[in-house]
Amino acid sequence: MEAIIKSDGAAYDVIIIGGGLAGLSCAVNLFERGYKPLILEASDGIGGRIRTDDLDGYKLDRGFQVFLTRYPEAARILDYKKLNLANFKAGAIVRAKGRFIKVSDPFREPQAFVSMLVSDIAPMHDKVKIAYLRQSLINCPLQEIFRKSEKTIQQALEDYGFSSLMINRFFRPFFGGITLDPSLGTSSRIFDFIYKMMAEGNVAVPALGMGSLTAQLASRLPPECIRLSTKVESVDKDKNFVTLADGKGSQIEARAIVVAAEGPEAARLLGLPDPGSRQAICMYFACDKDKAPTDEPMLILNGQLEDGGPINNLAVMSNVSSHYAPKDKALISVTVLEHQGRSDTDLLQAVIEQLQDWYGKQVSTDWHHLRTYRIHHAQPDQSPGSLEPPSRPVGIAHQLYVCGDHRETASINGAIASGRKAALAAIQDLKIPHS
Ligand SMILES: Cc1cc2nc3c(=O)[nH]c(=O)nc-3n(C[C@H](O)[C@H](O)[C@H](O)COP(=O)(O)OP(=O)(O)OC[C@H]3O[C@@H](n4cnc5c(N)ncnc54)[C@H](O)[C@@H]3O)c2cc1C
Repeated sequence: MEAIIKSDGAAYDVIIIGGGLAGLSCAVNLFERGYKPLILEASDGIGGRIRTDDLDGYKLDRGFQVFLTRYPEAARILDYKKLNLANFKAGAIVRAKGRFIKVSDPFREPQAFVSMLVSDIAPMHDKVKIAYLRQSLINCPLQEIFRKSEKTIQQALEDYGFSSLMINRFFRPFFGGITLDPSLGTSSRIFDFIYKMMAEGNVAVPALGMGSLTAQLASRLPPECIRLSTKVESVDKDKNFVTLADGKGSQIEARAIVVAAEGPEAARLLGLPDPGSRQAICMYFACDKDKAPTDEPMLILNGQLEDGGPINNLAVMSNVSSHYAPKDKALISVTVLEHQGRSDTDLLQAVIEQLQDWYGKQVSTDWHHLRTYRIHHAQPDQSPGSLEPPSRPVGIAHQLYVCGDHRETASINGAIASGRKAALAAIQDLKIPHS
């Protein structure tokens, strides 16, 4: 066994296990207050679930994700100007009854969206209800949202009095896509929180891909604060050292340790309950720009999930930011949430069949599949009960902390918030003198 590498005052103050958004937020908060964090990241890059791959000029986010500009924790730490944010157009296209219904503003003006939707495929009273819901959420302070009793989103929508047509055409693909749970079994607190954020801000992606969010935080740390391809095998809770999974049992000691791994891995390292996992599959297709299914920077929702097609939602990412594809090309992102154990090949075939039904034969002649991402742990399960309390404590034991989206809302906002709280708790407890 290698000798323990001491992390004393001259080296690092806090070891952070995991270089996703939470770990990076924790590290930046420590570093910018004069402390020395060390991130140990198992994979070959920073970012965790928020990474973007460049494939021949196509920017492939590892799973379709969007950034809500109104997220309060993101606004505290990110430089929005440098992210060069590109907004989705306030509107969506819903595929239902064999045609596409262009509707306005599901993100910022849900009542306008619904007024069109309602006039076509859902009862009129839904319009009144959604207008009321939107305004009441705008008026409701965030803390209040997290004090309301928890139920499933499905139950909340039924209690609000929405018709089943409205729930199935719009809310199921839309909020099912956000929570990665088309059964709408996620906590109603998430629904209220996200709905409020969308009503008050923009839905965006950084021009060069979602990975810019995590890359920006990493760029604020000196390179020696991040070690990639360094998996932690175990954490010693009493003596504050970690053992690496390097086959040699190398150990690193620090005055404080923050576990910023995703929920199931944090559970393994710390003996906490596993929060469970929501999965997602994202398929990317490319075609010539003039063969793209739409030139609008809009989300396309499957308004008839019950009919069996695997697609939940689709977006032409290069319509939102032209940097997502090479010149004169289009990048199409397709999200599948339920795959019933199908292999990538079978699923791709089913997706292509559905796309052909939607867009015709050009899908097989003019589009080509670039890559499929299967993300087993895309978000923790946040069924009712998981947000009670809304924020789980970051302190685990003496000078041992945990952070990540499984401690707050399963979102970019939650991960950043949790990392900040872990950093502040470590600083408070250690009383490390500022350099
Ligand atoms: C497909 C998809 C869609 C999403 N959509 C949205 C959206 O639209 N809006 C939104 O706000 N949020 C969305 N999210 C959620 C958001 O991306 C996450 O909440 C957030 O990125 C979680 O960050 P984290 O730091 O908590 O965890 P992670 O990003 O998972 O970071 C954990 C890190 O720890 C590392 N690690 C794990 N174990 C070890 C170990 N033993 N040793 C060393 N390192 C380890 C991992 O490699 C990883 O890098 C989506 C997520 C996915 C995947």
